[in-house]
Amino acid sequence: MASYKVAVIPGDGIGPEVMNEALKVLRVLKDQDSTFQYHADIFYWNSDYYLKHGRMMPEDGLEILKNYDAVLFGAIGDERVPDDITVWELIMPIRKQFQQYINLRPVKKLPGIKTRYDDVKSDIDFVIVRENAEGEYANSGGRLYSGMDQEMAIQNTVITRKGTERAASFAFEYAKKHGKTKVTSATKSNAVVHSMKLWDEAVKAVADSYPEITLEQNYIDALAAYFVMRPESFEVVVASNLFGDILSDLGSALVGGLGISPSANLNPTGEFPSMFEPVHGSAPDIARTGKANPIAQIWSTAMMLEHLGRDDLSTMIIRAIEQVLKRGEVLTADLGGSATTMEMGEAIIEELTVHTSLNK
Ligand code: NAD
Ligand code: MN
Repeated sequence: MASYKVAVIPGDGIGPEVMNEALKVLRVLKDQDSTFQYHADIFYWNSDYYLKHGRMMPEDGLEILKNYDAVLFGAIGDERVPDDITVWELIMPIRKQFQQYINLRPVKKLPGIKTRYDDVKSDIDFVIVRENAEGEYANSGGRLYSGMDQEMAIQNTVITRKGTERAASFAFEYAKKHGKTKVTSATKSNAVVHSMKLWDEAVKAVADSYPEITLEQNYIDALAAYFVMRPESFEVVVASNLFGDILSDLGSALVGGLGISPSANLNPTGEFPSMFEPVHGSAPDIARTGKANPIAQIWSTAMMLEHLGRDDLSTMIIRAIEQVLKRGEVLTADLGGSATTMEMGEAIIEELTVHTSLNK
């Protein structure tokens, strides 16, 4: 039987607090399901580590992580260390080295969470597939004529056929696997003609192999408006790095905020480990108060299990979260309640225990 190796990086601030609850969930699943085996190693690579060693992770940190099936990440960020160091010396090297070229973010309206769409009949339930390796974030360009009248900056966008096709393929495969009927591509080929026309062509070429799935190509400005006007109409949205970044935050705002928003940085080929992390940061304003909502971290753990091929356990976790929210008795402060991080974790675990024993 497969035993998964999971590298756990709790990080700073509320990272370790929400990670504790996620690890408890994993332990309960293992105790209840004899077909699920894993081994977790915890790496305390965070701002304390940086202050002690002058680096965010050991020199062979990436070599160490390479031996794992997945990385479960909390959050990083501490006022004693500049944010560009914590991000660029820990998160970015992992994303780049392990070719995590897909950033996947579910946008799902959960029961019991108040949104502006509570009177909408259909569910809001879609995913954003963000190209995570190139696009507008390619570090290419420069500045000229500093201090002069004609001072200027050039920032190049890199769109490759291969990079776009693999993002589009992921989106269509995801749609197929999850019984979705439509993929929406974010574009701007009417104005950004070189890069976005290649994007459109590459997406279209992939779409042609999936005749049963409709391709919808929307200009990013109109698409942002459609997100707000009819979020229930989307199923899978594929976007370049910058467009996907913006749409992801918009999507998360539509359905309830940071405390419940998970994400996955995926290396779909499986050659390298993928990384699963909540969208939120280390939230220093609420660290050590017990107010942090662990749902985003626990949901990210569910995404990890789906990636590892345990869709059943992933679904079970998401159902348990939904049940707890639907009952509305245990809610953290960000959701309008007064439950602590641990109380929320325990409520989800209790729900899981009930479900699993019912399934037997
Ligand atoms: P943040 O996500 O940490 O917090 C923004 C707001 O949301 C805060 O008011 C916080 O209390 C609240 N919040 C966040 N997560 C919550 C949760 N689980 N439950 C309840 N409330 C929650 O963003 P920020 O304040 O802009 O940044 C703080 C630090 O985190 C910075 O150092 C930043 O660089 C870092 N950061 C890290 C990541 C990451 O690790 N991937 C992502 C974003 C920000
Ligand atoms: Mn962002």
